[in-house]
Amino acid sequence: MRYCSTRGGVKGWGFREVLFSGYAPDGGMFLPETLPTLSSDTLRSWVSLSYPQLVQEVCALFIPDDVIPRKDLNAVLSSALSQFAVPGAVHIAQLGGNLSILELFHGQTFAFKDLAMTCTARLLEYFLQRSNSRATILVGTSGDTGGSAIHSVRGLNAVDVVVVFPRGRITFVQERQMTTILEDNIHVFAADGSSDDIDVPLRRLFADQNLVKNHGLMSLNSVNWCRVLVQLAHFLYAYLQLSGLQQAEGEVLPTLEVVVPTGGAGNIAAGCIVKQMGVPLRLVAMVNANDIVHRAVQSGDLSMAANVKQTLAPAIDIQDPYNMERVLWLLSGRDGVQVKGLMEEFQRSHTITIPDKLHKKLSSVMTTGSVTDEGIIETMQRCWEENQYLLCPHTAVAVWHHYHCPPHPGENRCYIATASPAKFQDAVQKAGLTIDLPENVRALENMATRYEDLEQDENWEARLRQRIESISSIRQRGALFYSPA
Ligand SMILES: *Cc1c(COP(=O)(O)O)cnc(C)c1O
Repeated sequence: MRYCSTRGGVKGWGFREVLFSGYAPDGGMFLPETLPTLSSDTLRSWVSLSYPQLVQEVCALFIPDDVIPRKDLNAVLSSALSQFAVPGAVHIAQLGGNLSILELFHGQTFAFKDLAMTCTARLLEYFLQRSNSRATILVGTSGDTGGSAIHSVRGLNAVDVVVVFPRGRITFVQERQMTTILEDNIHVFAADGSSDDIDVPLRRLFADQNLVKNHGLMSLNSVNWCRVLVQLAHFLYAYLQLSGLQQAEGEVLPTLEVVVPTGGAGNIAAGCIVKQMGVPLRLVAMVNANDIVHRAVQSGDLSMAANVKQTLAPAIDIQDPYNMERVLWLLSGRDGVQVKGLMEEFQRSHTITIPDKLHKKLSSVMTTGSVTDEGIIETMQRCWEENQYLLCPHTAVAVWHHYHCPPHPGENRCYIATASPAKFQDAVQKAGLTIDLPENVRALENMATRYEDLEQDENWEARLRQRIESISSIRQRGALFYSPA
């Protein structure tokens, strides 16, 4: 199993190198050079596997035994997935009207990112400990990624994480899930600015090759292949549980439609990969008012809007669905030259027209829909009225599809629930609903916090650089940081 770049300039890389990289050196994104096919026999032999077991099977397809022996891989992944609030880490809610919701939010920060992030963090730790080295993860977050990275990395020996969040622009729960973590390998900065303002110093720090080399600086957003890899597993789990495969007889496999709230498109890219591995999925990418993916699939118009719109589903308020590059490469017949041309033009001008042939493929692989804030509210209200089931606003973006394009009789569907409503109380309130907050959310109110402010008139790049450079000495002295007993 070897990896190559979507822009054609890099091939033959191993899993370990890819795990420790963000973008490929040619600016592209990593994907496997070939995809294994899952036969119907293999799928049938997996129907009784739990979600964590399925993660192991899927990862073993893409991580060769001589890179991590299978027994170690199983141990690392099962320990990563042992800290979720429900047995098996995920849960399927079967509601009235044939509405099946795959809840992926039972991790420490109540968002689906916890699943792939903890696995990725543990795999990093595995390699770092073996080579007796360290890494520093640098994350800018608009809400969910930072908390998930922090909880995945807290207490690990070989990894530090530096997170910068936009002060006052994320929910209270999101903020507290970051600032209440007191372990000394966690470094949290609250910046007086927007996510875009934060991107500027971060990009400069990642561009500094010396800093990157000397401090093992890396990113952990869904540019990282390993996060996409782990996400393959929940599409398979949905298929095995909800497609009707277990009852189906004969050779023809049933189809499952999977509806995904989409932002950076890492999740939907994972769905495309599973589909190319031979699993009969129909994919529906649902977005909010930030509708670039919707326009691209509808008309081939991949163009950024002038501004990000703030909506009730903030985790998918994005302008650049960067994982679409992976989707386009897979659909172009792995044409690195074409994808390089397209994506470089997109980076330059922020607007491209997807060529006809490629656009036809794209619109045959997935359909899309765009939902307004009113649509989100109505969906949350209706789902509550009919089922006494509270949706998070992102999940509501997906479930809107259920009410507006209901499935035909006999058609099987799965809606991906990406976060718990407890994390987005604002939207719950706007929908006129109330939520019984879980104990661990209420506890956030009174917990001690530790973070540092970045004021508008300060040099953020210098402050962050200083912190990154001092991590190794600080941790050796064990002074400056609070250390839990
Ligand atoms: C990150 C996130 C998404 C979007 O996932 P992508 O893979 O970026 O499309 C959707 N919902 C929630 C709650 C998220 O945190």
